[in-house]
Amino acid sequence: MIRFEGAAKTYPGQARPALDAFDLTVEAGTTCVLIGPSGCGKSTALQMVNRLVAPSAGRVWVEGRDVAGLDPISLRRRIGYVLQGVGLFPHRTVAQNVATVPGLLGWDARRIAERVDAMLGLVGLDPGEVRDRRPDALSGGQRQRVGVARALAADPPVLLMDEPFGAVDPVARARLQDEVRGILVRLGKTVLMVTHDLDEAVRMGDTVALMREGRLVQVDAPERLLARP
Ligand code: ADP
Ligand code: ADP
Repeated sequence: MIRFEGAAKTYPGQARPALDAFDLTVEAGTTCVLIGPSGCGKSTALQMVNRLVAPSAGRVWVEGRDVAGLDPISLRRRIGYVLQGVGLFPHRTVAQNVATVPGLLGWDARRIAERVDAMLGLVGLDPGEVRDRRPDALSGGQRQRVGVARALAADPPVLLMDEPFGAVDPVARARLQDEVRGILVRLGKTVLMVTHDLDEAVRMGDTVALMREGRLVQVDAPERLLARP
């Protein structure tokens, strides 16, 4: 699971904290979606989990470990990351992109090759067709699928997703959201996701955490959040 305890962040030169007294638990095997207006602190919270942002106060725990004490390899073993705008390495092939973390973990070539094809199949791509292409030879939706495959390649228990479907056209988006949601539930992943799209939050979240000005306003199941006046 993921747990924030009194996490806070004030960036240098900021008058107000980007994140303040933030307490949130994402139970194992569930998806929590952070939602709120631009600048409310969603990305700051998410990036504390994989230590791209260091808290000014408080702690963040992943699978029972304080992330402040995890080395980079341990972080990548535990946490997959789907970045905003996909963030694939443009000069590497799809296979090389998906193989990134298994490569860092020192898997042998055969195991990596098998894993790459399995992951591409999992996200609905034909491995033989896309394996050796560069990201710019794919559609936005295909690139997003590769981003998910890369994040899941080393089978981390925890997945972070920052506006994962922002670059996908609206028609393809709903289907991709449902497919990815199905994969995450089936694999039992613990997921923290950021969006400003309420529809996406409702489709993908077991819980939705509503934020405003660096604070949590409400955490609830999507149907209960929507039911409130
Ligand atoms: P959100 O993801 O909800 O849009 P962010 O977490 O990106 O919000 O930002 C929260 C606040 O912190 C905003 O006021 C933003 O301008 C500020 N902020 C984010 N990153 C930095 C940074 N690296 N340096 C200074 N201020 C930042
Ligand atoms: P590079 O090979 O340029 O060092 P990175 O190690 O930054 O690339 O990123 C490789 C992969 O690791 C990315 O696919 C991303 O999903 C994941 N990743 C990047 N940073 C982190 C992090 N702090 N924690 C967990 N996973 C990360």
